[in-house]
Amino acid sequence: TPTVGVLALQGDVREHAAALESVGARALPVRRTSELEAVDGLVLPGGESTTIDKLLHIFGLAEPLRAMIKEGLPVYGSCAGMILLADRITSGTADQRTLGGMDVVVRRNAFGRQVDSFETDLEMTGVPGGPVRTAFIRAPWIEEAGADVEVLARIPATDTSGREVAAAGKIVAARQGPLLATAFHPEITGDARVHGLFARIIEDSRRS
Ligand code: GLN
Repeated sequence: TPTVGVLALQGDVREHAAALESVGARALPVRRTSELEAVDGLVLPGGESTTIDKLLHIFGLAEPLRAMIKEGLPVYGSCAGMILLADRITSGTADQRTLGGMDVVVRRNAFGRQVDSFETDLEMTGVPGGPVRTAFIRAPWIEEAGADVEVLARIPATDTSGREVAAAGKIVAARQGPLLATAFHPEITGDARVHGLFARIIEDSRRS
């Protein structure tokens, strides 16, 4: 059974822990470096990326985590977590730092005021069994992805009622090796298949 940490500085830690447990992982809230050393993988939950970034530095987790990502720690970042995994941010605060690791440019609060938050069904590569029910909450999207990044999901051209969607085609889920990122929250809709995919990524990286 893999032990999967959930960064517990801010955000919906309990929902991620429940989703991980439901796919057979052991979930461990992580607030200090000693806890970080005990995990086979880590979830970076949503929240406010600038706040999480500040707390990562205050708790002394930023540098160890950055190093562990470079060494191949599997990490799944959701929403603000996706922003933290991005090598570059556009439209962030000028000095906003990230942990990095994924060769992507992320746009914060990308969906704009009109569609601030919404739920939708998305087909996602690596998640068989039909579309995933997802929640977007002041979500980012991936504006550019490097050659080593596999795009797993995009905003569809039309919504469930057939209307055209302004953000059609935007990348909202991606993978680069052991790093997984989604712009949306799958942990609050009761669909744990994205966490299942992350558990398989951890298994694969433990075997290699
Ligand atoms: N808007 C937040 C940010 O920019 C992310 C929102 C979320 O994680 N639900 O950090």
